[in-house]
Amino acid sequence: MMCAMAQSVKRAFKYRFYPTPEQAEQLARTFGCARLVYNKALEERSRAYTREGRRVSYEESSAALTAWKRTEELGFLGEVSSVPLQQVLRHLQAAFTNFFAKRAKYPAFKSRKKSRASAEYTRSAFTWRDGRLSLAKLGGPLDIVWSRPLPEGVEPSTVTVSKDAAGRWFVSILCADTIRPLDPADGVVGIDAGISSLLTLSRPIAGVTDAAGKVANPCHERADRRRLARAQRALARKEKGSGNRVKARVRVARVHARIADRRRDHLHKVTTSIVRENQVVVIEDLTVRNLVRNHRLARAISDASWREVRIMLEYKAAWYGRELVVVDRWFPSSKLCSACGALQPSLPLDVREWVCACGAAHDRDVNAARNILAAGLAER
Ligand SMILES: [Zn+2]
Repeated sequence: MMCAMAQSVKRAFKYRFYPTPEQAEQLARTFGCARLVYNKALEERSRAYTREGRRVSYEESSAALTAWKRTEELGFLGEVSSVPLQQVLRHLQAAFTNFFAKRAKYPAFKSRKKSRASAEYTRSAFTWRDGRLSLAKLGGPLDIVWSRPLPEGVEPSTVTVSKDAAGRWFVSILCADTIRPLDPADGVVGIDAGISSLLTLSRPIAGVTDAAGKVANPCHERADRRRLARAQRALARKEKGSGNRVKARVRVARVHARIADRRRDHLHKVTTSIVRENQVVVIEDLTVRNLVRNHRLARAISDASWREVRIMLEYKAAWYGRELVVVDRWFPSSKLCSACGALQPSLPLDVREWVCACGAAHDRDVNAARNILAAGLAER
């Protein structure tokens, strides 16, 4: 049994905020400067690497930044907080370290249109006092919508400001937080990334699944999808290069962002309940499954959402003293009877329910979730 010790973890808390016009302008400038510094430093590193076979250090990039600020051409870099500019050099350094260690591809340039607009402020570049957050060179405190309170007594260490494609501003506050593991739970559960529902569990959890064990999509999703289709049709009708097309594109981005936000909230609630009520959680590694999967049917859970679920389960299991088992060998989880172990010769994808020769009646996905659980417990 794991010892129930409190652990200190870094946790990010993300909120929307509404900048004043002056703050919005200064932040947009900061984003632009940060992108420029990143691209310029990347260019210099690439030149040193390809022409001279030399690796540039962070200190060298940092010295170059100081020199750029002294030139007439790039003097404007001195008008924004220097910390976000230093931070992009640190990120670039990390990207090259990963590249040289063969963990990542060669770093790419940041584009104004495609890259996320953001700026990162470390401790020296913001003040946090009486629940108000102010950033360097940005005038008064940010007007933040505290959709949930920051936990009592936490100390922010890094603040990241960003703007998404829908034009919404966010501030992400990284804090050291103390997590206490939960008391051990009795339950064990297997999860199938099903076709007919978002997720299917080997046993139902009240308030999260229906009586069979299925987790449905968030209830607003259907209406949001209709709204998205309408916005996309409207965008397709707008003339290229017109102002109305830009507006229509922002509208599409806004609906997309809303769907993603709601889905993430939903997945947070679901994964927290799963981890809370079960000591062992078994999932299937989808890359293995996808090798043999039929792609004709639309999946209820996209691969991106499934990755998110897996990440949430991984860190929540670590936080709360639970065990996550990932079954990474493919096995016929749908075609195997979870009651007697007999293998069905074939089970077309449109067959949602079936009865085994042993008499057991199965829902396809629940049966698969039970088999995943059994495989995980056996593998453990
Ligand atoms: Zn059977």
